[in-house]
Amino acid sequence: MAADFKIGGISIKKGERRKIELAVSSLYDGTDLSIPVEVIRGKEDGPVLFISAAIHGDEINGTEIVSRILKNKSLKKLKGTLIAIPVVNIFGFNMLSRYLPDRRDLNRSFPGSKSGSLAARLADIFMREIVKKSTHGIDLHTGAIHRTNLPQIRAYLDNVETKELAIEFGVPVILNSNIRDGSLREAARRKDIPMLLFEGGEALRFDEKIIQIGMQGCLSVMRSIGMLPKKKHSARREVFISWGTQWLRAPASGLIHNLKAIGTHIKEGDLLGVVTDQFGKSQGEIKAPFEGIIIGQLQLPLVNGGDALYHVASFHNTRKVQKSIKLIEEDIFQSFYD
Ligand SMILES: [Zn+2]
Repeated sequence: MAADFKIGGISIKKGERRKIELAVSSLYDGTDLSIPVEVIRGKEDGPVLFISAAIHGDEINGTEIVSRILKNKSLKKLKGTLIAIPVVNIFGFNMLSRYLPDRRDLNRSFPGSKSGSLAARLADIFMREIVKKSTHGIDLHTGAIHRTNLPQIRAYLDNVETKELAIEFGVPVILNSNIRDGSLREAARRKDIPMLLFEGGEALRFDEKIIQIGMQGCLSVMRSIGMLPKKKHSARREVFISWGTQWLRAPASGLIHNLKAIGTHIKEGDLLGVVTDQFGKSQGEIKAPFEGIIIGQLQLPLVNGGDALYHVASFHNTRKVQKSIKLIEEDIFQSFYD
């Protein structure tokens, strides 16, 4: 890393910790708008990791994960540089919205451009000021509005280093994704920057369990790349890569009555839910077409025919995956008393 490390034109010296406002745009009334960034540079050189949240403005669980990491005492021993961005899409965050004011999805607008749409410009600034200065990245997400996700890592696993980071994060469920979709992850991959996407919980909600899991996952990645000292007694948690996922959709419109919770191991033919009309008369059933784990679920009981209800992931050994999901929950519960 160069001796002079700058973000937004401001240089951060070794051993320094400072907040920077990354100017992006202004509101209709001319009020300046910026992305607040906190940079912590260790006394010694090392990796440069960005941890970002709320690229979808309403996915605030990740914002809390970032702020908890920033309070972690182990950062005193930091080697290298941590760039923390608790809210990337400041427009959406202020409007309780996933999108930008023009309804564009920031995470479909990467790598962006200087003269493109507002989303493209924001993406371009983020690429130039954050991603290109980093050696690694973690982007924190939740399910979309009214949808909750089991903690899971999504990453481009064909890259050996990225796969290693995904395993080190330590959540039981890992999905491989190599889609070309204009996402931050895709743009980072093209720059050869290993990056993970963490998904967990629901938009516009705090979920303490998932905040703990996300925070511990990020710290574990930081230990694995030498930014933080290794723990004396830490066993790697068993993680599993799904070989495919599918959304199961509502067979009819009405009210969905869920019979299975998120994280459940389901077998082919299991009844997952029933859609009824407002008098309680069944309009259709949703049965599991194959064995798997429910990794995403609609929380809103009102559905239209075709709405995505259950996101199911398949594994080679589903029983072991569910055991690992239970273990991580017990670990998190235990860590409150440590
Ligand atoms: Zn998201």
